[in-house]
Amino acid sequence: MTTEPTEAPQVEAKTFKAEVQQVLQILAHSLYTDREIFLRELISNASDALNRMQFEMLTNRDVHDPEVELAIRLSADKEARTVTITDTGTGMTREELIDHLGTIAQSSARAFVEKTKDASKATASEMIGQFGVGFYSVFMVADKVTVVSRSYRPEAEAAIWESTGDDRYTIGSAEREERGTSITLHLKEDAAEFANDWRLEQIVKRHSDFVAFPIYSGDRQINQRKALWRRAPREVEAEEYQNLYRQLTFEPDEPMLHVHLSTDVPVDLHSVLFIPGKRERGLIERRVEGKVRLYSRKVLILEEAKDLLPAYFRFIEGVVDSEDLPLNVSRESVQSSPVMQRIRKTLTSRLHRELNDLADKDATAFKSFWQEFGVFIKEGIATDYESRNELLKLLRFETTRSDGELMTLNQYKSRIIDGQQEIYYVLAASPEAAATSPHLDPFKARGIEVLLLTDLMDGFMLSGLREYEGLKLRNVDEADLELPGEVVAPEPQISEAQFTPLAERLTAILGEKVKTVRASKVLRDSPARLVSDDDMMGREMQRIQQMLGREADAAPRILELNLSHNLVAALAQRVEVDANDPIVTAAAEQLYDNALLIEGLHQNPAAMVPRILQLLEAAARTQRDQA
Ligand code: ADP
Ligand code: MG
Repeated sequence: MTTEPTEAPQVEAKTFKAEVQQVLQILAHSLYTDREIFLRELISNASDALNRMQFEMLTNRDVHDPEVELAIRLSADKEARTVTITDTGTGMTREELIDHLGTIAQSSARAFVEKTKDASKATASEMIGQFGVGFYSVFMVADKVTVVSRSYRPEAEAAIWESTGDDRYTIGSAEREERGTSITLHLKEDAAEFANDWRLEQIVKRHSDFVAFPIYSGDRQINQRKALWRRAPREVEAEEYQNLYRQLTFEPDEPMLHVHLSTDVPVDLHSVLFIPGKRERGLIERRVEGKVRLYSRKVLILEEAKDLLPAYFRFIEGVVDSEDLPLNVSRESVQSSPVMQRIRKTLTSRLHRELNDLADKDATAFKSFWQEFGVFIKEGIATDYESRNELLKLLRFETTRSDGELMTLNQYKSRIIDGQQEIYYVLAASPEAAATSPHLDPFKARGIEVLLLTDLMDGFMLSGLREYEGLKLRNVDEADLELPGEVVAPEPQISEAQFTPLAERLTAILGEKVKTVRASKVLRDSPARLVSDDDMMGREMQRIQQMLGREADAAPRILELNLSHNLVAALAQRVEVDANDPIVTAAAEQLYDNALLIEGLHQNPAAMVPRILQLLEAAARTQRDQA
């Protein structure tokens, strides 16, 4: 007579579900980078179990070990090449170990398998950051994992789960007094670096510093207990923000501004954002772009979350944390998730508000902001139509009347002259160059203020800035501007009959570069200018191309001559005497180049040197001849 065993055997071998086997296959054999995130996953699980325990004990004190501290402990053993992570969370019964560590309940792990199926090794490693691959990520670094757990349920017994990451695991009974779970990783030879307390601490600092439960290494707590951004802003000291800024950016300098936002409704959102002190970092790390880390439930899920803010805020650094985001948030779902949209909206409008406040309250501070980051605001004008009104108030310009100070569009508007219905701007290489622009003649004569646009980004900005509060923006070089205010036109020095041959000669010299040569109605102090009757946008884009040094054929413009100017009169006389006078040729070419120089569009100024010498020589000779 034989007796059948009535109890489950001490140690039982089981097979993983098919999808687990797939995940294991990928994790154990395809991924060699970012392996340190195994610790983040284990800590995240421990933290979840501690959270559940905390919640359970709100109503139930009949648990195993009710007094034990809710905490996570890490220890490394170099000799044995092991890492152990222990928590005093809910623990797992034998059945729970089988259910939770033998199958994948989680849809993201399935998605992970789907996505990595045909992906190359490189992209598979990138995906780790985007999917919560969870517990099984231990097999990236371990060739054997032992889990010993004791559930909080008083009657439950401790159990041991063990696997070498192939298609099987074993489950059995174990000895363990304390509530909770210990996971021991027997590290692969090429993962020995992780059997090191210092290395573990480094990973915790990087990925899990703000987990809400203490993480101990020995008897030292190595994480921050409460995330700074989850605290009430009024309780946080200025110095603490600076520390966080330094931790995030490795920047020794202070940030220009911090914005702390902590709300539960309508979306759970806790965030500290920084405007760095400078646009460019120090010599070692020259990066212009900031980064925003995205946490969900205190776990870092994206180190560089690009979609949390509009692109023109890419200089901003900081942290965003929301309980409403799923841990397995992937790039695609980030963009489309309605929670994400709401977060983005909230953060963006808060930043607009803070910047407008700064502009209102502290002109000096705002000026330094504008000098470092104004270019991004200009980009925002061109790209974020929805926020246009908020951004318009931030714009600052030098003008022909600002004496180097910065003006708002509103200030400009308050100073327009009688009858003025447009805002005028001049595009130039620099404020100094703008001051010499011949286009300004009629504006100076009438006392009309002109914006000096001297930044490469200005051309792009104009695409989103066609008008301001009913005033159209107009380039001073437009061919047929109707300016308000009357001024007496200067007396011409040459007649129509003298002008015509000069115009014909200049047209011949400049060829394709000019459309026509005509007499100017507006020039006063300058001899000549180039005006355009083309569509404004086309010209702005072309200007950007040219400033970037790209070959972009300059569209021909109209050369306008000032008939009251001595130089123009003298050239007309020379043409009368000798239609092919080389001085006329050189002067025509130089006048054209002058226009390009002022606008910052001259591709090769040094090429002018022989011509300037030729003109100097002619001028010097005239003196000698007269002597
Ligand atoms: P997820 O955390 O997304 O559910 P994981 O693969 O990370 O997926 O973990 C699977 C499950 O295993 C968890 O949901 C949990 O039920 C259980 N588990 C893992 N680690 C622990 C732990 N330290 N304590 C209690 N339960 C755990
Ligand atoms: Mg997990």
